[in-house]
Amino acid sequence: MDLIYGQIRDAVRHASVRARGESIERRRSKSPTKPSAAWTAPCRIGSSQGTALSIVLSSIGCTHARSEEGGCTMCSYLLDGASRNPTAEEFFLQFQTAMRKLEKVGAPLSIKIYTSGSFLDPDEIPVDSRYQILKTISEDDRIKEVVLESRPEFVTEAVITEVRELLGNRSVELGIGLESSSDFVRSICINKNFNLDSFRESVVVGKRHDIGTRAYVLLKPPFMTERSALLDAQKTVTDAISLGTTTISLNPVNVQRNTLVESLWEKGKYRPPWLWSVVEVLRHAYSVSGGAVNIVCDPVAAGKNRGTHNCGNCDSSIVDSIRTFSLNQDVSVFDDLNCECRELWNHVLEHEDVSLQIHT
Ligand code: SF4
Ligand SMILES: [Zn+2]
Repeated sequence: MDLIYGQIRDAVRHASVRARGESIERRRSKSPTKPSAAWTAPCRIGSSQGTALSIVLSSIGCTHARSEEGGCTMCSYLLDGASRNPTAEEFFLQFQTAMRKLEKVGAPLSIKIYTSGSFLDPDEIPVDSRYQILKTISEDDRIKEVVLESRPEFVTEAVITEVRELLGNRSVELGIGLESSSDFVRSICINKNFNLDSFRESVVVGKRHDIGTRAYVLLKPPFMTERSALLDAQKTVTDAISLGTTTISLNPVNVQRNTLVESLWEKGKYRPPWLWSVVEVLRHAYSVSGGAVNIVCDPVAAGKNRGTHNCGNCDSSIVDSIRTFSLNQDVSVFDDLNCECRELWNHVLEHEDVSLQIHT
């Protein structure tokens, strides 16, 4: 059994490296002083509504994606990265450029710092830049919430102590891509390369410093039927909540360039999840959490072939209700949704395992 498991792991790893192809070399050279992206949007901050500034710092990219492991099967963030790593000064200029978007915006504010990998990885974001960025945030009283993203191996006691000291009594969350609570699914279907214990330890370290964990839950990794993916996401939500996470962020897979998911999709062997499945997982999450955990979902490419979609007729109304739910946590927004395609989705849930057909 171990031998077969190891062989499948190797096959997925090699396929991920192949799918990544030359995308590392083909990355455009970008201005090292501008972030990859920065945008503001309404968001929930504690029990009130405020404004979130999301910043994607342009870095050299995720260590896991650059390694011989080939990165995760659905992720092309490497393509957003820079061909050389910016200096500490350049990273700080990126951050300052993004912060200008908040010049005329009032409190409460949330700052979400993304990279094409892990903000807490010192090989990706120099320790000096991390310090400067967090120090600047600490000096802005409008900022009530900070979200940082990292793989669990960089969530250490020393780093988290520093984060807490710098950010004072603000609400802080660490976004970690748990994806699935099943080590098998995370390893074989996602090629994530860390185990549940590692995630669990990060939650504990965060808790010691009153820092919450935002668990990213993936809906429908490759090699899974709609039904098994739906059940896996629901179980992951339940497990993540019982481990003590403070936010569940549900991410339905979208087909990104130069990924294993894309190569399967191009061969007709992968379909992104149905929006009906997204709604089911959100309903489940709400009922398990009893309102004590924030549940959010901002599906990328929703309604398009590369993103979570239904029949085309009902997609926009369902996506609207998902966004509304993420803002106000009112699960009744899903009550009146209906469309003829719901029957087809039910049919897929029942029969896809048997027919081995991908229902588009
Ligand atoms: S999902 Fe996260 S850990 Fe996986 S390759 Fe992308 S950035 Fe790296
Ligand atoms: Zn429909």
